[in-house]
Amino acid sequence: MADLLLTTGDGFEDYEIQEYLGFVVGQAVYQSKFIKGIAADIQGSEDQDLDDLNDCDEEVKKNLIKAAKAKKANAIIGIEMRYAQLASGSFAVVMTGTAVKIKKKESIIPDVHKELFVTNYYTRLVPRPVKVVIEGSRDEISLSVWFYNYNLDDINAVRGDIELTNLYDEKLVIKGVDFIIDKGNVSLIKSDYVSCKLTVNDIKLLKDAKVIVSKYVTPRGIFACNDNPINVTMSTRRLEALKAKRGIDAVEKYRTDGMIWTCNCGHVNEAGNEECIVCGRKQEDMKINTKFDYEKMIDEMREKEYVNEIKDVLMGYIKDIDNKYRLQLLEIMESGQQYEKTRGNMKDSVIEKVERVFEDD
Ligand SMILES: [Zn+2]
Repeated sequence: MADLLLTTGDGFEDYEIQEYLGFVVGQAVYQSKFIKGIAADIQGSEDQDLDDLNDCDEEVKKNLIKAAKAKKANAIIGIEMRYAQLASGSFAVVMTGTAVKIKKKESIIPDVHKELFVTNYYTRLVPRPVKVVIEGSRDEISLSVWFYNYNLDDINAVRGDIELTNLYDEKLVIKGVDFIIDKGNVSLIKSDYVSCKLTVNDIKLLKDAKVIVSKYVTPRGIFACNDNPINVTMSTRRLEALKAKRGIDAVEKYRTDGMIWTCNCGHVNEAGNEECIVCGRKQEDMKINTKFDYEKMIDEMREKEYVNEIKDVLMGYIKDIDNKYRLQLLEIMESGQQYEKTRGNMKDSVIEKVERVFEDD
């Protein structure tokens, strides 16, 4: 009978109540003389009498459990017991409670959701992996890859490897994954979720994802990628800022030397092309509309060693810089100088912050 959990309280630790099945009663009526004494003064009863009372309780408890089982309960909460003297002189022992269905709580591990921008790219017209989305619970982890589909091909599937890197710079490669494309999108296509043998902790540690495409399928046939991926060189933070501003497929900052220009998609175009031949971006649209050549300033900053010197470069340009940036830039220099006194060289960090001021524009 003890396969039901019983409590006078309103629940059990480590269990959750799934269903309330209603009030239950167990009772029995006793003629015995001893019970009169008990009812009159339970505190003052003889030990013998208490043992007998416990026997009575067992009987009542059995009835109560039976009533709860009839309701398909596996526990009873809020149990109360009463003794009542009946007119006939006999005594009733009554136990009441609420029948419930309980379930042991699972140790709570929150579901995971992680999105990583892909940090390699191809400059040919192949479906470009742009984001790895990982989702799951303790039981199952799966991932989906988003591809940028430049020529709006009707892509059915892409096969490739996923290379994941964690904070310890350990790499995990998942080979030959088939990404079946979820129909309905055109330019940004998303694969179905593919299950993978990662744990929740593995995922929390991830910092980088690369996708190496081997082949893909369209109604016109099977195509090999035939291209080596190029690694993105900018930091994750800057890549995120660039993508927020220039589109999810952006991997490079626009730059030109007059002969050629590098598009945000990474493709290097001839000066004569007004539009990028891979992504169609117009060169005009990519030029940043700041009044001064901040790229030149950044280049000069890179040649320096310490924040003090970097600040000097900034001061040389400050009159050309839009008012709204000035205070922010000066603050970056100020805190960079402070940190440099205690934490060593802050050059890279300061330059990255300066670039971000303009990227975020
Ligand atoms: Zn382009």
